[in-house]
Amino acid sequence: MNELRQNMVTKRWVIIATERAKRPSELTPLSTTDPTALPAYDADCPFCPGNEELDLERLRLPKARNWQVRVVDNLYPALQPDGESVYTFDGIYRSSSAIGYHDIVVESPLHNAISALRPAAELVEVFTAFQQRSRAIAQDVRMEHVVCFKNHGSMAGSSMHHPHAQIIGLPIVPTDIRARLEEVRRYYENTGACGLCTMLDREREDGKRIIIEGEHATAFIPYAAFSPFHIWIVPHRHQAHFRYADPESCAGVATVLHGILRKLYKGVGNPDFNYVVRTSPVKEAHPEYVHWYVTVVPRVTRLAGFELGADMFINPTLPEESAAFLRSIDST
Ligand SMILES: [Zn+2]
Ligand SMILES: [Zn+2]
Repeated sequence: MNELRQNMVTKRWVIIATERAKRPSELTPLSTTDPTALPAYDADCPFCPGNEELDLERLRLPKARNWQVRVVDNLYPALQPDGESVYTFDGIYRSSSAIGYHDIVVESPLHNAISALRPAAELVEVFTAFQQRSRAIAQDVRMEHVVCFKNHGSMAGSSMHHPHAQIIGLPIVPTDIRARLEEVRRYYENTGACGLCTMLDREREDGKRIIIEGEHATAFIPYAAFSPFHIWIVPHRHQAHFRYADPESCAGVATVLHGILRKLYKGVGNPDFNYVVRTSPVKEAHPEYVHWYVTVVPRVTRLAGFELGADMFINPTLPEESAAFLRSIDST
């Protein structure tokens, strides 16, 4: 029998279609990019060492000539920091100037690097860059929300081979973020507890959807995961803002993410994926009800009309089976 499941934190429903269930090992990536087939250096790539445009640079780690991670302005930004934040009302319509930040995080000096095949410390450095830039962007009083994310592969929206992630600073809080905030606030009011802390406790007790349990963070497939291998990585310590997370939690989440990317690479065949750091909006003080975490979404199923029309997903896999499959993949 198929089943409708609801995520207790987001309140979103999903159809778990076990009647047409696929075994996790039968899922094949929609597209695979094999960066290891690329050269380690490309003379035409603006992110390769030697081609750096220093006037675009916002941050480099370490601050030496031989950098590991660089943050630069996107040459084709969705939003730009210059100018004033102006709201315009035109009859029933309203608009706002596209003020904001659009950073590119160059994750490695190597053109063909892939996180899953590099040391975990390199992904920790990327998260350090995310955090430092999030703090800097949040100091701009016009900014309401900061999103750190990565697109890996063309199905996930990536258009350049050199490994990079992105950071976007927004002058608004997106509607979906507001809705999620409202749900966790309501849960806190009703129970006096953080929804994500509660869910994490339950998952760690139960264990069947856990993939990696680290010292500072745990990765699991949510009970109502909306796609196969949709994974949450939750820091054990309750903190609302990613930008203020302590170094152990930040590094702990990045290290578990590294393990997950290795498992996906080996077990699912280097699928295209997105990961996103979900955090509190900038101007929420320190809400007890918000808990930052990371979502990983491998691209193994396509979105179709139903997903668009119902804003709801059909997951052809059982979260418990997918978690067991990924647990069994050696990530060392
Ligand atoms: Zn390059
Ligand atoms: Zn919490």
